[in-house]
Amino acid sequence: MTDYTQLYNKLSSIIDKNNIKTNELLKNHTYTKLGGKADIFLTPTTYEEVQAVVKFAKQENVPFTLLGNGSNLIVKDGGIRGIVILLKNFNRISVEENFLTAQSGAAIIAASQYALKENLTGLEFACGIPGTVGGALFMNAGAYGGEIKDVLAHAIVIDCNGEIVKRTAEDLELSYRTSNIPEKGDIVLEAIFKLRPGKYEEIKAVMDDLTFKRESKQPLEYPSCGSVFKRPPGYFAGKLIQDSGLQGKQIGGAQVSTKHAGFIVNKDNATAEEYISLIKYVQKTVKEKFNVELEREVKIIGEDL
Ligand SMILES: Cc1cc2nc3c(=O)[nH]c(=O)nc-3n(C[C@H](O)[C@H](O)[C@H](O)COP(=O)(O)OP(=O)(O)OC[C@H]3O[C@@H](n4cnc5c(N)ncnc54)[C@H](O)[C@@H]3O)c2cc1C
Repeated sequence: MTDYTQLYNKLSSIIDKNNIKTNELLKNHTYTKLGGKADIFLTPTTYEEVQAVVKFAKQENVPFTLLGNGSNLIVKDGGIRGIVILLKNFNRISVEENFLTAQSGAAIIAASQYALKENLTGLEFACGIPGTVGGALFMNAGAYGGEIKDVLAHAIVIDCNGEIVKRTAEDLELSYRTSNIPEKGDIVLEAIFKLRPGKYEEIKAVMDDLTFKRESKQPLEYPSCGSVFKRPPGYFAGKLIQDSGLQGKQIGGAQVSTKHAGFIVNKDNATAEEYISLIKYVQKTVKEKFNVELEREVKIIGEDL
């Protein structure tokens, strides 16, 4: 067994001990309910703590991984070595004129609802995306014709040297479900969205309509990572999977949703291994039947057991 006492002791001099855990089970922190243990699990409460951890990790050559709401991630059963940082304590949202500022650990759904309360339009598309603001920027999350790129003015990040810097939306090179955040090694602290004045009833009507569409089409009753695959050019992943006769296909506790073929649900205490095996099975079957490569949208991280 690895001894993390030394690492723990060093970290407790730079971050409040109450916010450090060892061997924390990550399935308790992921929307997919998948994932083994993190060696060290940190929930910092100040930006200075995050900066200090980044500098420490760099200096000591310890890997660190950021977790949002784990709604676009499969953490493998062997968990994650080194440090895992959860930014859930940074969840403040505020509005000044037409600008909405949301800290990275806030739910993007909460940001969307806050905009409604302030009669601001632009974030309606995000009203059902179950991720954090940080995860939404990382993925340039989008739905129903809208995406983060359309409304982001700028972001405040901690760069790979531990410095707090501003990045404009252009700096982040947001495009279909990607950004350059992983490449740069940025940690998003805050997003500043430029919205437009709107009418409460109209904004709410759009959000209600999108919520109805989502609830009627998506298997929200089970843990999942949303759409597993990106939209292949000229096709719809869900339709290809459905036409391959894969709906209901189950490996262990993981199942291709019977409600929406683009989703794989954690139906019955699936392991990450079962979930990943099912993803590969779907990719192989669709390739054989339609000669189309399905590219994963969801990220797989961590180690096998
Ligand atoms: C039911 C369901 C419906 C969904 N619908 C949609 C949809 O309509 N549109 C859509 O785009 N997505 C959708 N998703 C996928 C997912 O919710 C989004 O991609 C979301 O933006 C991921 O955010 P997260 O906080 O869960 O990120 P995580 O899954 O925790 O992490 C994703 C990546 O972001 C990185 N990250 C997280 N926080 C930060 C930060 N502060 N700074 C830097 N990097 C960070 C992580 O390290 C990781 O690499 C859906 C998922 C589910 C389960």
